Amino acid sequence: MADSTDRRFNRHIINYALMLGAIGLVAWLSGHWMIILLGALSVLLGWNLWNLYRLAVWMASPRSKAPKSIGIWADIYHRLDKLHQQNKRQKRELKATIREFKRATSAFPVAAVLLDKKNTIVWFNDAAGSNLGLREASDEGQPISNLIRDPGFSRWLEVIGDVEMPFEFPAPSKPEKTLSASCTGYRKNQRLLIFRDITELKRAEQIRRDFVANVSHELRTPLTVLMGYLETIAMDCPERIKSAIDKMAEQGQQMRQLIDDLLELSRLQDIESGDEDEIIDIPALLMQLKEQAETLNRGAREIHFEILSDANLKGSVSDIKSAFSNLISNGMRYTADDGTLWIRWAEDQDSLYFEVQDTGVGIPAEHIPRLTERFYRVKGDRARSTGGTGLGLAIVKHVLNGHQGKLEVESAVGVGSTFRCRFPKSRGAQPIADMREAI
Ligand code: ADP
Repeated sequence: MADSTDRRFNRHIINYALMLGAIGLVAWLSGHWMIILLGALSVLLGWNLWNLYRLAVWMASPRSKAPKSIGIWADIYHRLDKLHQQNKRQKRELKATIREFKRATSAFPVAAVLLDKKNTIVWFNDAAGSNLGLREASDEGQPISNLIRDPGFSRWLEVIGDVEMPFEFPAPSKPEKTLSASCTGYRKNQRLLIFRDITELKRAEQIRRDFVANVSHELRTPLTVLMGYLETIAMDCPERIKSAIDKMAEQGQQMRQLIDDLLELSRLQDIESGDEDEIIDIPALLMQLKEQAETLNRGAREIHFEILSDANLKGSVSDIKSAFSNLISNGMRYTADDGTLWIRWAEDQDSLYFEVQDTGVGIPAEHIPRLTERFYRVKGDRARSTGGTGLGLAIVKHVLNGHQGKLEVESAVGVGSTFRCRFPKSRGAQPIADMREAI
């Protein structure tokens, strides 16, 4: 290609040289060589300027046909026209590919939205348009939180990266549908949000939850009656059946706790707590937990409470209290009477955290990933004898989910365990008063 261009260019130079030679000869023969040479050069210059002008005009509106000329200019126009045609073809092909891609992503049943680093919408597919109520002409370039007006969604958007939890919410344009949003990193500074329709899944979950909640409610009343009779009998019963009555009362108490935990779990699943966003006064909460722990402990184990961060927490006081007190109660139940517990509220670079560290029995590593499953117990442990229901950590996990938190467990058998609840810093709140001294 370069060779043929060089050859053509050389030919044009030779043509020019021959033309100038012929003009020079005519000029010399005529005896007015100066005038004739100047005239010839002016004509040549004029012709080149005229062609440059035509080129500029054509460049300004390249849709028109390429100008026609001769010699080197014919060659230049021809090459530019070829490049122009090639460019047009590539553009057409690219447009066809984009059309095909759009058609494919439109047929995709899952809603997808591409965001830039400021969370403004760069692109979305048809499913996102219908499920999220987005309009192509006006909504591209808008911040997504202006269009999905769910406060939980905006909060989730701020912390994705810190948490991998998907976010569930009613579809803005069809509130009877439930969507689950998840996020994947896309190109540098861009994120792709995927919204799945989980309405049916939620309905099935709701049926199961209602069933468990209803059964638990139904069991509560007969159990209260039984427990009442047992208490009455225990006050005035012959010695030979006393221990049997005590055993029945103990089992009844265990059942009552189980029912309470089941109801608490179904309540937490129903409301996905954390939306209440009260400011939790952490020092005051730890003070209450300390009193509770001391009553249960009766001076047996050493318990240290430490507050190492000024920050408070935004969320539901009752749910967070329930999660923290479950962890403290576990720490005590799985730690012998001569053991020690450290209960801390602290922060590091990325998060705020609450942790319970104990010198208890510890947990073999293979059980750790399954501890938050309902009724999951480490084989051979003392859970039942210590009054556990097998639901405590499931409750903790649900509370943390509702607060964009996560549970970390570190443990070594025979050495002890640390259960840590981590919260993103965006969940932090200003201190109310410095109560560390009081603790
Ligand atoms: P449970 O009521 O049985 O304690 P949880 O859901 O609270 O139920 O805990 C699940 C299991 O995790 C327990 O049965 C126990 O085996 C283990 N576990 C929880 N906390 C501790 C701890 N601090 N030390 C050792 N094992 C623990």
